[in-house]
Amino acid sequence: MNIGTLKRAPVGCVNTPLEYMPRLSRELGGGRLYIKRDDLTGLALGGNKARKLDYIVQYALENGYTALMTFGGVQTNHGRLTAAAAIRYGLKPILVLKGPRPDYLSGNLLLDRLMGCDLYFVDTEAAEVLPEAEREAAKRRYLEDCAQAIIADYEARGEKVLSIPVGGQTVHGSAGYIQAIPELMAQCEAQDIHPKYLVVGYGSTGTFAGLWAGAAYYHAPFEVVGIPIEPDYRPREETAAFINRLSETFALGFTCRAEDLRLETGPAEAPYGGIGYNEPDPVTQEHIALLARMEAVFLDPCYTGKVFYGFTDLVRRGVLAGDAVFLHTGGAPGLWSREHLDAMQSSLWSGKAEDRVHVMKLEIP
Ligand SMILES: *Cc1c(COP(=O)(O)O)cnc(C)c1O
Repeated sequence: MNIGTLKRAPVGCVNTPLEYMPRLSRELGGGRLYIKRDDLTGLALGGNKARKLDYIVQYALENGYTALMTFGGVQTNHGRLTAAAAIRYGLKPILVLKGPRPDYLSGNLLLDRLMGCDLYFVDTEAAEVLPEAEREAAKRRYLEDCAQAIIADYEARGEKVLSIPVGGQTVHGSAGYIQAIPELMAQCEAQDIHPKYLVVGYGSTGTFAGLWAGAAYYHAPFEVVGIPIEPDYRPREETAAFINRLSETFALGFTCRAEDLRLETGPAEAPYGGIGYNEPDPVTQEHIALLARMEAVFLDPCYTGKVFYGFTDLVRRGVLAGDAVFLHTGGAPGLWSREHLDAMQSSLWSGKAEDRVHVMKLEIP
């Protein structure tokens, strides 16, 4: 397959803005800092998964699928966008969510319900009683069994279900980010700017891998730097192997070694990835507030707030010496998820935190 002629089913809007961040650049005192707005990919409040879905949906249509099923945490952004893409193409949206059904509807889940997708909560909490060595395998097996049962159920009703892995982590999905590179290079040329770094979150890794492959194939003049969004991140070796699969599938003509990949995890005492996947933490919250105050751009608490903490820390310490682009991958609906709303009450809405909040109350004598 040739990457240049690979067809896409337009799901979101590409050619997202590349904007200069003057106030943030001044505040941090390093190079000129830019933001690539993939939070503005349009589809269902936007985000990076739209670029992946362009190619995944094309594959689904070419192969006669009638339903898109995918997986994720209860607040998955990828799930929201997959459901939206399915709806736009007349396919059935099915989400398999890892975790118990929350009592309170919020964040992405509210949007999933508004879109009317079929939701399956896979609750594996009972596995906590097992010895640690067996726990993850037992959870994984149960999830796989559930997925098989769900697919069989739809097939019995005449549907053909495309099962998309967590995060849309497939070679077709990453094609979207390979092709984001010429777009970004053309924008840099048009604006006459010369960033040395492109900083991006590293979660299910398809975004980073696609960008890395695109940068190698198109000879981008910047380095792709990945920031893991949780302490327990996917090993570089697996990502290098996936990038080599991209190279083979799309005849990109390079090989990638694990040591070629640049991941920045931050100081051991305060890693960029925080304390766990989608776990609220005050450092991430501070960095979400920093960008909102500097540039009026909203980040999210699960991914981009952490990546932005890494981005600013690397600029401050001079590790990224030169102009740099931050890729905003979306996720803002997570700000309104119950757990993050609760966590932000104390930092933004109590006692000293309220220094800019005034109440003026009419009193009738
Ligand atoms: C999925 C996601 C990421 C991570 O992208 P991967 O391709 O999974 O590594 C980053 N930011 C947001 C908002 C996401 O939803």
